[in-house]
Amino acid sequence: MAVVAHPDDESFGMGGTLALYANEGVEVHLICATRGEAGEVPPQMLEGYSSIGALREHELNCAADALGLTKVHFLDYRDSGMVGSQDNNHPMALFQAPVDEVAYKIARLIRVLKPQVVVTFDPIGGYMHPDHIAVHNACVKAFRMAGNKKVEIHNTIPYSPVKLYFHIFPRGLVKYIVKLMPLFGKDPSKFGKNRDIDLAAIMNQDFPTHARINYRKVADKREKASACHASQGGDRQSGYILTWIIRLLSSNESFMRAVPAPEKSYLETDLFEGI
Ligand SMILES: [Zn+2]
Repeated sequence: MAVVAHPDDESFGMGGTLALYANEGVEVHLICATRGEAGEVPPQMLEGYSSIGALREHELNCAADALGLTKVHFLDYRDSGMVGSQDNNHPMALFQAPVDEVAYKIARLIRVLKPQVVVTFDPIGGYMHPDHIAVHNACVKAFRMAGNKKVEIHNTIPYSPVKLYFHIFPRGLVKYIVKLMPLFGKDPSKFGKNRDIDLAAIMNQDFPTHARINYRKVADKREKASACHASQGGDRQSGYILTWIIRLLSSNESFMRAVPAPEKSYLETDLFEGI
């Protein structure tokens, strides 16, 4: 089970890993908290859709097909945007939702779907997006809640998944990009389509890598899934020099293990190791 905040998080972050396991016959469920309503979309792309959310839901279903996911489950919150964004004030914004409420919804799905492995964002949500951090906090809580006999969740019985992982961007790679960006005339503190990602600040938060998953076998599926998110630039990624560098350097995705507590200096190459 992968727990994310927006349509495109599943493909851009951990898409290779999800596709790899789906390809091996693992049932892969995606929990997506919002429909990405606060994303910026070129107006011509909205033609035929009632809203940005509807378009991005369509893009997510396209990506889920490409990755081979079993099912997408929405938590029906609204996308909050980055810190300071007007979208944060919307009453349905994920940013406004109490962590216990979000955790309860995720825990219910954990009890119903009974995943062995759960993956979500790292404690800073990858790049400090408030929704990603909210999902991380709720998912960590839900992981414990699901197995707690004292917690009653409508029509379910307690269930504890075996492992919990946080997807992380390897800092070595980020360090390389931060050094390279000025050469391409880009400012590392204003990274990304909306220039709201501060790579320099992200570098100050380091997380250990406990598992590295090589998805080269299914790299084409990850590409296809990313391309589904055309409104978020997913189809243009292949022309992007930085993406090209990332791809050249690795077809790996990195994870930090939260549960069970990791043994020191051992790198897993399979999230199902030991299961
Ligand atoms: Zn996101």
